[in-house]
Amino acid sequence: MDRGDLFVISAPSGAGKSTLCSMLVKELDNIAFSISHTTRSPRPGEINGKDYYFVSEQEFEQLVAEDAFLEWARVHGNFYGTHRAHVMEKLSQGTDVILDIDVQGAKQVKKRLPGAVTIFILPPSWQVLEERLTKRGSEDREKIKLRLQNAMKEMEEVTNYQYTVVNDVLEVAFGQLKAIVLAQRSKTRRVLASNVDIDALRPNPDSWFLV
Ligand code: ADP
Ligand code: 5GP
Repeated sequence: MDRGDLFVISAPSGAGKSTLCSMLVKELDNIAFSISHTTRSPRPGEINGKDYYFVSEQEFEQLVAEDAFLEWARVHGNFYGTHRAHVMEKLSQGTDVILDIDVQGAKQVKKRLPGAVTIFILPPSWQVLEERLTKRGSEDREKIKLRLQNAMKEMEEVTNYQYTVVNDVLEVAFGQLKAIVLAQRSKTRRVLASNVDIDALRPNPDSWFLV
């Protein structure tokens, strides 16, 4: 069995990456969403251990001190980090892993794991981004303002990513994202390691064509 691949997905807040990531995990087998640790408060409906591990700043600092994170960053005033052991265990079991992380975290991951596949999700326009953030209703006006201010800087990083998906019509964007994952799974290294029965490819010794 070959190791899984790591998919790093970044986007400005509200572009739709959580929506797209959860569709991916629902639709494809053998792919896991990495549950980050964060010091931000849970939104209504978010579940500890499913959406995030919600921790105090003290607990977060402790994990940093233990070098438990593959990457971590301060984003929109809160701390977020990816637990290294959780990710490495899944990859070594042959499972693909998706990281939904910001641009600072993506840079750290690329340095440590250069084989990671990087994908940026763009909204179709600034106006749509504002509308999606407002309609989601999970942040107050001040927090939306901060997220939009950060969005401008984050979108400048798009050129550092290998793939870009514009999330206009959800089903179209999802199709593109899925195609990226399936293309990665079709890399010769992975196909040879998992699917190919070498014995079945050997010619039959009494094959009429070879005698
Ligand atoms: P992110 O995780 O990037 O912050 P979300 O996945 O929470 O963004 O999406 C922000 C809001 O936009 C949500 O209310 C979501 O349902 C909605 N949304 C996401 N993608 C689309 C789309 N293609 N068309 C319309 N609404 C969308
Ligand atoms: P939200 O608060 O909307 O869930 O996430 C805010 C931002 O934090 C998003 O850009 C998201 O990708 C990013 N984020 C979530 N988890 C992590 C993580 O573990 N590390 C980093 N660096 N960013 C994260």
